Amino acid sequence: MNKNLSSYIKKLKERDISSCIITNGVLLTPEKQKDLIESGLDQIQISYLTTNKNRYSEIVGNKGNFETLNCNLQHLFEIRPSGLRVRLNFLDTDFNTRDFHKVKEIADNWGFDTFYRREHSRGGSNLKLGYYHDSFDSCLRCGTFPSVHFITTDGNVVPCCNDTRAENILGNITYFDYESVVKNKLKVMLDKYELNICKNCTDDYRWYTLLKVK
Ligand code: SF4
Repeated sequence: MNKNLSSYIKKLKERDISSCIITNGVLLTPEKQKDLIESGLDQIQISYLTTNKNRYSEIVGNKGNFETLNCNLQHLFEIRPSGLRVRLNFLDTDFNTRDFHKVKEIADNWGFDTFYRREHSRGGSNLKLGYYHDSFDSCLRCGTFPSVHFITTDGNVVPCCNDTRAENILGNITYFDYESVVKNKLKVMLDKYELNICKNCTDDYRWYTLLKVK
């Protein structure tokens, strides 16, 4: 976790901008939770893929620790202020599909929200799921692009969290003001320009509105 995270959150709070962090929960220690809550964090999203310890290890490998994750979440449940929204993100990889209802049950017991998403290509970086080439009959991108700004630690504005290598830069907040960044995003939309990362994205959210209308 970035060591300046709480100061970033405080600065956003001073500007009345809501903040959210997404984490695997392992480094969300009781000390870190206290720090983040005191800085005014509005939302925490934690990846929670299964309630089964063995399956957890098989999915996340050595990047996670199931006991630590659960201890951290139990602590968060105990100290969470009412204004802090906590959400468990469940990514359905086929391997863990049957665990969703148990994850939901645990989240309900802790008073946390749940979010379900099928595994997708992550803008092409998840090679397991390949690429989505034919975007002719689909939306050009999802609702994340206009509604959320993703800024890397060196100030680059990228389309979404899938652009982990910052290959689709829309501006840099260090050189341009906020309004210019928003204008640039608007231009991409008005020009109906499809970014490479979105071309290769199979996130259900792209078609969410269409699916809802159906
Ligand atoms: S369509 Fe996919 S890659 Fe593009 S902004 Fe949305 S989630 Fe990101």
